[in-house]
Amino acid sequence: MAQCHPLVTRLLASSATAAAQAGKIIRDIFTRGDLNIVEKGVDDLQTEADRSAQNCIIESLSRQFPGITIIGEEGTSRCEVPSDWIVTNVDEEILKVKLPKDLENVSPQDICVWVDPLDGTSEFTQGLVDHITVLVGVAVGTKAVGGVIHQPYYKDLQKSSIGRTLWGIDGVGVGGFMPVPTLIGRRIITTTRSHSNKTVQAALDAMEPDEILRVGGAGHKVLLLLEGKAHAYVFASKGCKRWDTCAPEAILHAAGGKLTDLYGDSYSYDATTSHCNSKGVLATAPGEQHSWYLSRIPDEVKQEI
Ligand code: AMP
Ligand code: MG
Ligand code: MG
Repeated sequence: MAQCHPLVTRLLASSATAAAQAGKIIRDIFTRGDLNIVEKGVDDLQTEADRSAQNCIIESLSRQFPGITIIGEEGTSRCEVPSDWIVTNVDEEILKVKLPKDLENVSPQDICVWVDPLDGTSEFTQGLVDHITVLVGVAVGTKAVGGVIHQPYYKDLQKSSIGRTLWGIDGVGVGGFMPVPTLIGRRIITTTRSHSNKTVQAALDAMEPDEILRVGGAGHKVLLLLEGKAHAYVFASKGCKRWDTCAPEAILHAAGGKLTDLYGDSYSYDATTSHCNSKGVLATAPGEQHSWYLSRIPDEVKQEI
């Protein structure tokens, strides 16, 4: 890969191909059928696919980009990986982008990459493979500036192919898909399918939705906002982590939407920050009034989380 491209461009171009390879590994493991499930905590599962996909992404990126910090959901232990899991090719479309000035000369020490190798594990173990995504988010300083979402089971009927990779970069825009505007006149809210509780439900009720879409994965829910299928993603719980929101937030912002905590503050994504999105998640589709949704969150809900 030509070193003449800026570091952030090369990193995102490599993240896209690594995420797609991780998607292939996930499909192969699912097809084989032995998921080798481990319980990490309450309502928190890990499978062979989560572990292998993370090894693929972290080995591929850390070999090409020494000096950056990479934080993956499945921990820090690294191991030998098959050679075909090490990806060195790049997404040529991303390589062509023209970055805004402030991203052109970033040093490796200022970069933190947040990896969720398989978002929506709970749904994956139940065979709901359409809910899962692979998330690679790139932060510069405290800010999520770029991201990749790969959907391993997306079917493009025209191309008869499986899997698609979407990306977004702050100040550049998005690629790999065309955002669709949401319909005016109805309020469709998306939220968790497998991590609900009374507080999560109270925040939803306060939005007076016409419809609630309960689906798995933070990546999947932000995709629903980008595809015009939901107006807001509301999650009044501490359960979501930085690797769940870094890539989706960057892509959503690049498309004109917004992701914050339930107070309207942005999460920070530098290497030393907390992993826990302890003040919940509110994401709104491009064109939606984020402040309206914030104003509806009841004080009792804010106090609870
Ligand atoms: P969900 O909307 O339930 O699919 O959650 C989005 C992301 O946050 C997934 O990666 C979940 O694993 C994670 N998450 C949400 N709530 C919890 C929880 N209570 N415990 C562990 N992980 C959670
Ligand atoms: Mg996740
Ligand atoms: Mg995960």
